[in-house]
Amino acid sequence: MKILVVGGAGYIGSHMVKLLLEQGHSVITFDNLFSGFRDAVLGGAFVKGDLANRTKLDEVFTTYRPDAVMHFASYIQVGESVKDPSKYYLNNFTNTMNLLDTMVKHDVKYFIFSSTAAIFGEPEYVPIDEAHPKNPLNPYGRSKLMVEQVLQDYERAYGLKSVCLRYFNAAGADPEGLLGERHEPETHLIPLVLQAISGKRKDITVFGRDYETQDGTCIRDYIHVVDLCSAHSLALARLMKTNESRRYNLGNGAGFSVNEVIQAAERVTGAKVTVVEGERREGDPAILVADATLAREELGWNPVYFDLDNIISHAWQWEYASSQVAVAAVQGSVFR
Ligand code: UDP
Repeated sequence: MKILVVGGAGYIGSHMVKLLLEQGHSVITFDNLFSGFRDAVLGGAFVKGDLANRTKLDEVFTTYRPDAVMHFASYIQVGESVKDPSKYYLNNFTNTMNLLDTMVKHDVKYFIFSSTAAIFGEPEYVPIDEAHPKNPLNPYGRSKLMVEQVLQDYERAYGLKSVCLRYFNAAGADPEGLLGERHEPETHLIPLVLQAISGKRKDITVFGRDYETQDGTCIRDYIHVVDLCSAHSLALARLMKTNESRRYNLGNGAGFSVNEVIQAAERVTGAKVTVVEGERREGDPAILVADATLAREELGWNPVYFDLDNIISHAWQWEYASSQVAVAAVQGSVFR
């Protein structure tokens, strides 16, 4: 199959490109390289371009005639989306409309969309299943939910079939060590903790210890990037076979507190982290855990790297390799 991967030079997109190539698909990556890296695209065709440019998109569809599109390109910082909503609505929503309209124009019928747990807002219950009310708390979550809603209209009107995958906390890295998380600036907990260990930064700030959780820190459901990618390929296969659009929540169904993540990072690396106590971060729900039963049942999705230490050891392998700083405490680390 010929698959267009939009945002294929980014963190999750680059892992997806690698998996699709391994599965024998023909891959075209489309990325503006604002936050992605050309060297993270391990094969296939590469087109540098921006979703704001409909002419360029049109060219790509005419040249490559993809059978399906996977869309990973978006801005992902919740705090920034509150301060600069225009940036988020323009890129995550309007630019996605350009992509969808180009698909309709070229009669490409299959679309896999990177959505997020942020569409649910403050949880009314956990674990969060697909039926949970959707009340995003910020423009980031709203921009993703708007695309999900538009997709229903596009299916009715144009027959465009889609699967929306709501990621909980994507983490980890390619087990072979070829790819990993390279956000600039980095805002995610696991890479930040590991950077505090490798010496790239001096400490990690815990955003609040007064949540209603067992140790007072926030609980999240960390899902390995390779498991997320396997869900994408299963979702596309099912979509093309059944022609049924779907929405799935993707997580392991197990929550870990910020404290537990820090402890696991210390365990995996054999090093100590300097922890600084911080205020709560605005818009952080106490607990976010997925109920991914539907994805397991319908897709036969079976996450392999569900163990937190395993997720962190892959992320550490990447961080350690990419770090220029030698840390004595690193001796004895375990890469599993
Ligand atoms: N967090 C933290 N310190 C940091 C970054 C994150 O305590 O420097 C916490 C954050 O409040 C949340 C959890 O770690 O409870 C995961 O945050 P992340 O930004 O990785 O993902 P999110 O849950 O926002 O998608």
